[in-house]
Amino acid sequence: MTVIEATGLRYAYPDGTLAVDGIDVTIEAGEQVALVGPNGAGKSTLLQLLGGLIDPDSGTVRYFGETDDADDVRDRMSVLTQDPADYLFNPTVEEDLAYGPGQLSLSRAEIDHRVDRITARFDLEALRSKPPFRLSGGEQRRAALASALTVDPDVLLLDEPVSNVDAANRATILRLLEELSAQGTTIVISTPETELVPHVADRVLLLDGDGIAADGSTREVMTDAGLLADCDLRPPQVVRLFADHETVPLTVEEAQERLQMGDSR
Ligand code: ADP
Repeated sequence: MTVIEATGLRYAYPDGTLAVDGIDVTIEAGEQVALVGPNGAGKSTLLQLLGGLIDPDSGTVRYFGETDDADDVRDRMSVLTQDPADYLFNPTVEEDLAYGPGQLSLSRAEIDHRVDRITARFDLEALRSKPPFRLSGGEQRRAALASALTVDPDVLLLDEPVSNVDAANRATILRLLEELSAQGTTIVISTPETELVPHVADRVLLLDGDGIAADGSTREVMTDAGLLADCDLRPPQVVRLFADHETVPLTVEEAQERLQMGDSR
């Protein structure tokens, strides 16, 4: 099933900057897609257009083959922007977590159940009663992602969810994204970091500022040094290290496995 079908998207900011110009994107259910490109390539703008947070100047976005209005699918799709303050605005973290499900017509017991479950899953127990502004940057990102998940979305759009996040919070977020992928959640994630891509996506849309420079598997795009260089990006370090091997590992874990099996070339 096609969950998002965007056609001819064009968006210029009020100052005239043309951020997205003539982009078509189709996302199928269960895919994990990375929007990858250098800073300023239009990733964030495209993600906001796909999530219905801003309206295109021209073009359309269709959800689940049913509607062009993102508000109709807020119970099935969550969008996480880069600013945790978009999600954390209640007196306590706990109230923030209850806010999303509170917008759906759920019973109080179901809302409490979801908040408890997500609190445990994101290891937020100790932060539960705190005002969100007292949290560290990484904790805020973790809490914001938790709040995006309380509606149990089928589709999750994430704008650079681990940039400026410390190693421990980053590991927690990546582990959760892996779990969500395994459960079949459709994930679209924007990032300028090629290192991150093999951990979060099996398909890559490469943006170069003029449009989509490539749309392919993570392996195809992340091992194409020339293509990435055209977009001012480099392949992940482990890909560069093993570039002349027969099958190139995309992650350190894959490389370790390969080496344990005795592959020296
Ligand atoms: P990315 O997420 O890839 O870094 P963005 O979508 O944030 O790219 O930005 C795309 C282009 O739009 C850039 O040239 C950026 O400077 C511009 N841009 C982003 N936000 C605004 C804004 N609020 N007003 C004007 N220009 C903007």
